[in-house]
Amino acid sequence: MSEEDRYVFIAEWYDPNAALQRRYQLIYYTKDQSVEMYDVKNHRIFLRRTKYEELRKEDLFVGNKINVFSRLLHLIDYGDQYTARKVGSKKEKTLAMIKPDAVMKMGSIIESILDSGFLITKAKMVLLSRAEAMDFYREHHSKSFFNDLIHFMTSGPIVALEVVGDDAVASWRKLLGPTNAGIARSESPESIRARFGTDGTKNAAHGSDSIASAARLDLNGMFDTSSRTNKLELEFFFPSSGGPGPKNTAKLTDCTCCIIKPHAVSEGLTGKILNDILSTGFEISAMQMFTMEKANAEEFYEIYKGVVAEYNEMVAELCCGPCVALEIRDADAPKRFREYCGPSDPEIARHLRPRTLRARFGKNKIKNAVHCTDLPEDSVLEVQYFFKILDS
Ligand code: ADP
Ligand code: MG
Repeated sequence: MSEEDRYVFIAEWYDPNAALQRRYQLIYYTKDQSVEMYDVKNHRIFLRRTKYEELRKEDLFVGNKINVFSRLLHLIDYGDQYTARKVGSKKEKTLAMIKPDAVMKMGSIIESILDSGFLITKAKMVLLSRAEAMDFYREHHSKSFFNDLIHFMTSGPIVALEVVGDDAVASWRKLLGPTNAGIARSESPESIRARFGTDGTKNAAHGSDSIASAARLDLNGMFDTSSRTNKLELEFFFPSSGGPGPKNTAKLTDCTCCIIKPHAVSEGLTGKILNDILSTGFEISAMQMFTMEKANAEEFYEIYKGVVAEYNEMVAELCCGPCVALEIRDADAPKRFREYCGPSDPEIARHLRPRTLRARFGKNKIKNAVHCTDLPEDSVLEVQYFFKILDS
């Protein structure tokens, strides 16, 4: 099999025109990064084997949503024993959290996470209340450092991330390094805590504790095979009941809206773009990952309908995978941030304003890395659309 690794999944796609949930067998060939799709119900080839380099092997696991030629496919099951064994038995998800001392360095930390082959499937900036922090760290309530820890964890925003990968619980702990940042610097100098932490309490980031291999995904690909630490901690920030969880940090004043578009997220550019925004001096006062429905993308882009020729393509791009919404704060945020994003066409941006975000990270007019609010009077409305309406 090594010559021609072939992974098979069952995928669902919601066809908005027929208002139908369609089901496919999706086959991915690692050798030439090609995909093939077979319509299960109608017994016919839906997509002949085609090279599709945008899809990476790391993206392929049950529970994930992937974009194949602008269709958002939900991988609902493994299609054969080989795939289940090879992919399913090692995939885990865990909580990674960027602590208050390192939120300004979130770009570099996220870059490290992505470069290590993990996938980020959820993200949310929150400010923990004292009660929430005490609840999250309840296992430590009798420790001498508990008060310092709670004080630290409520001293500013944190970023909670759901991270998926092979043996994610243990491999994220390994990348994180020893608890004490000083010890991390001598024992594991490349680790996150060595690079970004300060001391024993201010140690840059958190990872769920190890779980026994018995808590691995079962072959049906369901993640909830146990009530282990990683699952409990993910539930704390991202409740599966759809319940509220800790609130986002959006201030909804003196701000503008930025969206890191799905193509840029799936190309692994999130960390680089965040880094750039922060090092240019803008404040990121809220951040959250969303996977938009088509109806929401249409509503969000309503003002461009009938005005911008690419409206339909813009909508398709915005809902073809997860995006990252940001509230950007700055004196004169809408205007300054717009200038920093650059002309909407990256080709033009590369000629006229080569240092702008779109010049450096955009591909074309639709896949231009980021959306930013056009009209200053819409800034607050756009931020509200994500952080008040969609996050509820
Ligand atoms: P980890 O975060 O590596 O799982 P623990 O669960 O033992 O470590 O502790 C939780 C957090 O409490 C640590 O990340 C650190 O911020 C803080 N902490 C742990 N031990 C100490 C200590 N001896 N002194 C001060 N703070 C500590
Ligand atoms: Mg711990």
